[in-house]
Amino acid sequence: MTYQEMDTQAWQVLDRAHYLHPFTDHASLRQTGSRVAVRGEGVYVWDTEGERIIDGLSGLGCVNVGYGRPELVKAAADQMSELSYCQSFFKTTHRSAVTLAEKLTSMLPDSLNHVFFQSSGSEANETAVRLLRRYWNLVGKPQKRVIIARELAYHGSTHMAASLSGITPMHFAGGDLPLPTVTHIKTPYQYRNGFGMDPEAFGILAASWLEERILEIGADNVAAFYAEPAQSAGGAICPPMSYWPEIQRIGRKYDVLLVVDEVVMGFGRTGKWFGRDFYGIVPDIMQVGKGLTSGYLPLSATIISDRVADVLIEQGGEWAHGYTYSGHPACCAVALENIRILEEEGIVENAGKVLAPYFKAKLETFADHPLIGDVRSVGLMGGLEIVKNKATREAYDYEAHIGDHCSAEALKRGLAFRANGDTMSLMPPLVITTEQLDTVFDIAREALDATAKHFGVI
Ligand code: PLP
Repeated sequence: MTYQEMDTQAWQVLDRAHYLHPFTDHASLRQTGSRVAVRGEGVYVWDTEGERIIDGLSGLGCVNVGYGRPELVKAAADQMSELSYCQSFFKTTHRSAVTLAEKLTSMLPDSLNHVFFQSSGSEANETAVRLLRRYWNLVGKPQKRVIIARELAYHGSTHMAASLSGITPMHFAGGDLPLPTVTHIKTPYQYRNGFGMDPEAFGILAASWLEERILEIGADNVAAFYAEPAQSAGGAICPPMSYWPEIQRIGRKYDVLLVVDEVVMGFGRTGKWFGRDFYGIVPDIMQVGKGLTSGYLPLSATIISDRVADVLIEQGGEWAHGYTYSGHPACCAVALENIRILEEEGIVENAGKVLAPYFKAKLETFADHPLIGDVRSVGLMGGLEIVKNKATREAYDYEAHIGDHCSAEALKRGLAFRANGDTMSLMPPLVITTEQLDTVFDIAREALDATAKHFGVI
């Protein structure tokens, strides 16, 4: 059978036989089969059955400028024709990586001047932790080793990134995680950790959990606090505005470095260029990925402050760290073109000023849905938390898989709508229109209603 002759079923047979998918229950996949995507344009993806799906998730929070932008294809092709690969290990560089490094630092506070490239968010987090170790060793404080991360955090799937993650399945039994120098504190998840409190008072309380843990461990042993500006995979957990200033005050007080993982929030998700712009954060190390290339090619960047980089450069000698694809020319060229598109088309500004308030208002109409206990959002990231009992906030048993059920109901109706635990998440492309958002929310409601019926709630 040729490629063109293969129908959906034929692809599903091969998929089942050979392709292990990330974050997938393969027993369940065997029963349902995969949807086979073939084409994307704007906010839509089409499958082999010719069905159109509106992507309420920007892929995995990455396709910020939408699918099928010819300028990005051209940027990759031009770069590949000119210089398809270039290593930077031994005193060689190339124009796309240098230009992109300079561009990124120009978009950030003056203290953030140095950029290291990798292919993924997970690798960026590995880089950051190796940097932390190197830094504290070089400045003569090798005992500063513990990294304080948060519950429900997601930082990736490599060993250290999974350790930093606080979503418990990331530390599955027998996986030897988290690694010994990582500890987790509670997160600014008001619905579960501070229900009924004044939000700004709750932000201060949630930050105090960092100080408590620093004092327990001893500041002399703490290397860094590690966090996403707002948490996406943890279920759209958005801190009150009082949280980050207080976290930074505590970090400075105890000389604990601040690492901010902007892999999802960077490049417009909050309606500002970076989550740090939205919450007023000045990190010592910061990671971006995903939206850096709008998912067209894999690229992440670890952006490093002068404080850390100067020590590494002046005292570190050779830093034994790097990846074959660090600063890959085509990825850097695509990132530069992606940033140009975001800037010249005012996409981030429109997301913040026009789309985000519309998105929030639409999301809030779900507060009275019989399944929804909490509604949360920042910019174009939102979550609707499903509960069994709205009065007591009791959750459904994990085995009920109610979020997955809702997700499947949405997909049947043509919407990619993901369950993070029992929180239904939306992160549409930043180029979505208000009319397209109406469609997203209409389908989301139908999916929730169908789920409520299935579970006997309505
Ligand atoms: N950091 C955050 C905040 C993420 O959400 C993710 C992925 O979703 C990662 C890191 C890991 O990125 P990658 O999947 O590219 O390794």
